[in-house]
Amino acid sequence: MKIVIVGGGFAGLRLARRLNNQVGFEITLLDRFNYHQFQPLFYQVATAGLDASNISFPLRKAFHNSKNVRIRIGELEEIIPSENRIRTSIGHIDYDILVLATGADTNFFNNQLLKENAFPMKSTVEALQLRHRLIQNFEDALLAKDEAELEKLLTIVVVGGGPTGVELSGAIAEMKSYVLPKDYPEIDFSKMKIYLLEGMDRTLGAMSEKSSEQSQRYLERLGVQVLTNTLVKEYDGEKVLLSNGSVLRSGVVIWAAGIKGNIPKGIDQELIARGSRIKVDRFNRVLGSANIFALGDLAYMETATYPNGHPQVAPVAMQQADRLAKNLKSKTEKDYRAFEYYDKGSMATVGRNLAVVDIPKPRLHFGGFLAWMIWMGLHLVLILGVKNRLFVFLNWLYNYITYDQSLRLIFKEFYRPKTPKKMPDKFLTAEWRKLVLANYPVEPGILQPFLPYKTELDVFNNTHYISVVAFMFCNTRVMGLRVPFHTSFPEVNLRFYVRLKRNDEWKRGVVFIKEIVPKPAVSFVANSFFNERYATMPMRSYKEQNPETQKVGYQWKHRGKWNHLEVKAGIQPKQIEPGSEEEFITQHFWGYNAVSRNKTTEYEVSHPKWEQYPVKEYKIDCDFTGIYGGAFSYLSNIQPLSVILAEGSGISVFNKRVIR
Ligand SMILES: Cc1cc2nc3c(=O)[nH]c(=O)nc-3n(C[C@H](O)[C@H](O)[C@H](O)COP(=O)(O)OP(=O)(O)OC[C@H]3O[C@@H](n4cnc5c(N)ncnc54)[C@H](O)[C@@H]3O)c2cc1C
Repeated sequence: MKIVIVGGGFAGLRLARRLNNQVGFEITLLDRFNYHQFQPLFYQVATAGLDASNISFPLRKAFHNSKNVRIRIGELEEIIPSENRIRTSIGHIDYDILVLATGADTNFFNNQLLKENAFPMKSTVEALQLRHRLIQNFEDALLAKDEAELEKLLTIVVVGGGPTGVELSGAIAEMKSYVLPKDYPEIDFSKMKIYLLEGMDRTLGAMSEKSSEQSQRYLERLGVQVLTNTLVKEYDGEKVLLSNGSVLRSGVVIWAAGIKGNIPKGIDQELIARGSRIKVDRFNRVLGSANIFALGDLAYMETATYPNGHPQVAPVAMQQADRLAKNLKSKTEKDYRAFEYYDKGSMATVGRNLAVVDIPKPRLHFGGFLAWMIWMGLHLVLILGVKNRLFVFLNWLYNYITYDQSLRLIFKEFYRPKTPKKMPDKFLTAEWRKLVLANYPVEPGILQPFLPYKTELDVFNNTHYISVVAFMFCNTRVMGLRVPFHTSFPEVNLRFYVRLKRNDEWKRGVVFIKEIVPKPAVSFVANSFFNERYATMPMRSYKEQNPETQKVGYQWKHRGKWNHLEVKAGIQPKQIEPGSEEEFITQHFWGYNAVSRNKTTEYEVSHPKWEQYPVKEYKIDCDFTGIYGGAFSYLSNIQPLSVILAEGSGISVFNKRVIR
């Protein structure tokens, strides 16, 4: 049986080892690198504590004397399931069974500026690039022209308070205490600031509250400023814009705030779950497929204990590989056993002598020196290769005794040029409030004539949507200025959903068929500067509330007749569920307009996730044919698939750019 395993990480390598020299299996292990990477210690490479080679292990060495495992170094480009074949950067490879273990990559959540300017840490090379930047910034600080530049170079922002963010900010704080003042005696390190930003209300959110509280305390003791409930909105290489509106000046922002699965081309969109993971059954088989499996960070498996998928950690990847190896070795598929994750616990270290460990059964928590010893022991056991283990151990011992990470070398080849791009300027800020969104199905053929160049229709659960959206513009400012009599007014629009691929990432946006406002000046500016399709009509809006329900309504007058959209809803707001239809409808952050056959304009709209109210009743009375044209007449004869009332929030619309 020909088994092709893509990815030599924790899952893929483990599976290949379990099937090594097993009769009846011919294994090809494909990876884009010729080495396995021990990701849990990337942060020590980035902070000059370990050499990159100490946490990398050559894949070929793992299979010396193997009779059935062949290594290929190349990149998976596409799966062709109908032919049982994959296309790779080194040619085609045929398979009887395909195992995808391509792991995950950094998720910048489609924020292009962040992607260009912040440092990810998802590969050995990225850890080295980060090391280069961290150390080079201190060299640059010696030459800083003024205090503002010095502040920027001495401020490090780590985004994401999970184990990676906690470990990294702790390690940087230790450098600041023990090493940097000796290396750079001319710099006043009391001016150096390390921030750890976390969107939730605590660090280490997946661990116990005790671990969160303890890790935060340890970090603060080391001088790290931990800001919880704080999100990063933008970073242009100099300024970090936070969700609370404040701005930090920083020369290095490290992004450890999200990952997304490395989904290969050829996987059906419908099989992609939250976090860009592939939906698999309890045997790790890709849903609907007989011979394609996905493991580790890439796999999304729902079980009673893990209804939202398993945590993306190394033990899950390794245990799934173990289970799959056993299943593949069983005589028939009837003997396959379902995967069940055995959680042995989680841990994170904050610095010298400081770590936290949670063990689920029996429920135990350790902190401090004991936890730190457990953390070190376990990582030493897990690192591949006796030589690597020895070198890591000796390095740790040396660092412990001398208080000195000895690898502060600047390798110029790991210089990652910083893009001088600035944040696009905000064109408009406002609040969008009480948004009523009536969502209908639409045939793709109807939308094709409106589709801007380079965009494609976005789809949710096999359905293309078109929505009537009515809402209030409040506190509107254009380029920071309030325009008298134009700060509060209603809008109603008809829009559909598209996406556009840029630098391997999908940007999700909307295209308007028509937007209606009561202010002629707004229509003029939007049509002239944003290529929008605005129309001016008399409009009215109203809202009423009693202790249990609220009524929100919008009216717009066309050819002497009032059109009407109204909802009656509860008053308790609730979160919009990840992966839901409501999330699909409300989380499209780009606006696209067709300028010509080969030119599109694009602008970004940023806002936090909205809350919604449970809709109890709705009324829609709209002359779709008269206002939007014959193609949309059918909307008068059907009911919407859903109607949402969202509370809304402050929003920013950024300047447009042209895509050719
Ligand atoms: C900084 C950091 C710290 C972490 N710390 C911990 C920790 O302390 N404890 C813990 O349990 N987990 C930790 N994790 C998570 C853990 O590393 C992952 O859960 C684990 O690596 C997942 O294993 P995997 O086999 O699914 O993917 P990976 O180990 O990521 O392996 C994926 C492999 O696929 C290859 N690949 C990807 N795309 C392609 C392609 N198109 N073609 C060919 N090859 C490809 C990659 O080169 C890689 O070798 C950490 C992760 C990071 C980034």
